[in-house]
Amino acid sequence: MKTLIIGGGIAGSTLAHALRRYGHDATVAEARGSHRDTGGAFLYLAPNGINALRAIGLGDVPSATGGFEAAGMDFYNARGRRIAELDGSDDLERYGAHGMVLRRARLHGELAERAQAEGAEFLFDARVVELRTQPDGIEATFADGRALTADVVIGADGIWSTVRRLTWPDAPEPSYGGIVDCGSWTEADLPDTTGQQMYFGHRAFFGYTVKDRVAYWFTNLPRRDEPDRHELADLDQDAWMAGIRRLHENDPAPIRAILDAAEHSLGAWPLYDMPSLETWHTARTCLIGDAAHAVSPSTGQGASLAIEDAAVLAHWMQQESEPRAVFEGFTADRKARAEKIVRFGRQIGARKVSSAAGSLFRDLTLGMFLRMGGKATAEQYGYQYAYRVPEQQPPSSTVDPGAPDV
Ligand SMILES: Cc1cc2nc3c(=O)[nH]c(=O)nc-3n(C[C@H](O)[C@H](O)[C@H](O)COP(=O)(O)OP(=O)(O)OC[C@H]3O[C@@H](n4cnc5c(N)ncnc54)[C@H](O)[C@@H]3O)c2cc1C
Repeated sequence: MKTLIIGGGIAGSTLAHALRRYGHDATVAEARGSHRDTGGAFLYLAPNGINALRAIGLGDVPSATGGFEAAGMDFYNARGRRIAELDGSDDLERYGAHGMVLRRARLHGELAERAQAEGAEFLFDARVVELRTQPDGIEATFADGRALTADVVIGADGIWSTVRRLTWPDAPEPSYGGIVDCGSWTEADLPDTTGQQMYFGHRAFFGYTVKDRVAYWFTNLPRRDEPDRHELADLDQDAWMAGIRRLHENDPAPIRAILDAAEHSLGAWPLYDMPSLETWHTARTCLIGDAAHAVSPSTGQGASLAIEDAAVLAHWMQQESEPRAVFEGFTADRKARAEKIVRFGRQIGARKVSSAAGSLFRDLTLGMFLRMGGKATAEQYGYQYAYRVPEQQPPSSTVDPGAPDV
């Protein structure tokens, strides 16, 4: 099957790598100019994401990109009292892996490089603008006029997916969750943390992890109206950081210490999630990653789900030769899980927004909320799927019938 992957982000690059490991052709069309030309601050890759990487021969990527382990979460109220914890000390035993904190651009770049090293072809500056189904394939046209035909097109082009819009013009658009997220990493005179430190601050939620005197921090700024797509692109960093410091000025000392040391944030992202889509595929097109099911970053699951999708889809492409059978198998395995996590993320986001307004209600109900969160986390981290691709790329591009399928 000749596969054209639109979007060389986390899902698309991982899929290209996995397909090459199976010996399939994979071409990636990426709108950006290079695989290093990516953005973002840092993200948490959960145990399920680490396990999915291992299953497709990329288990060393988190460490190779400077990631470090972070297990569990401690929750604090606005006065700095520790009010709850999600214990992560037995994550390794329970799930076979610790979650890790990674710089997003490094992860993204490394995945793309690994896919290229396996023989996947990457076209850069290739922004898809049109898809046309033909009797024996599907043709993609790019903004610069280039065109490519493939047996199947995989839409791995992120939350604002063009493949989704071209294929299902009436599909719902991502919905804004009332929070603008921003963060960075900053040298700070604070001790290392074992897990993530989460504060329900007086006026905004703040989280951080410290490793080797560097604090990886984020804040969730409540904002009722949806910012314009371009409004946050070019921030006056001095004014922006001053506003954040004011918002957290009465919050506990570690937050103030980090923000005093921070000179800038690496961006500001309004948080969206994806309403459930009726379907993720047609006979020749299928969506994966954020294009299909963008989750709120509050879940810490977006990248992990994108990697799981890639591994599971590659597995189905190995199992079946008919595109429709591949896509049906894939969505049957993935849709319910991903959409459940989207709904969970929506609840967390609503909680963060409402907490900024009422701390007594929040403190009284937090225990119940965290028990629910603990159960959901176990389900997310404990995902087991029978995917495993060959350790080495087969010598030819034919399918290896003996590929282990454990
Ligand atoms: C602020 C923030 C914090 C986050 N924190 C976490 C976290 O803690 N943990 C976690 O697991 N996840 C986190 N995420 C989410 C995570 O980054 C995404 O869920 C993940 O990157 C999804 O991968 P993807 O490949 O589907 O999409 P992306 O990584 O967005 O990749 C899509 C790619 O498609 C390309 N593209 C777009 N349109 C076109 C087109 N028309 N033609 C060709 N190419 C196109 C883009 O340039 C991009 O390279 C966070 C996201 C944000 C914004």
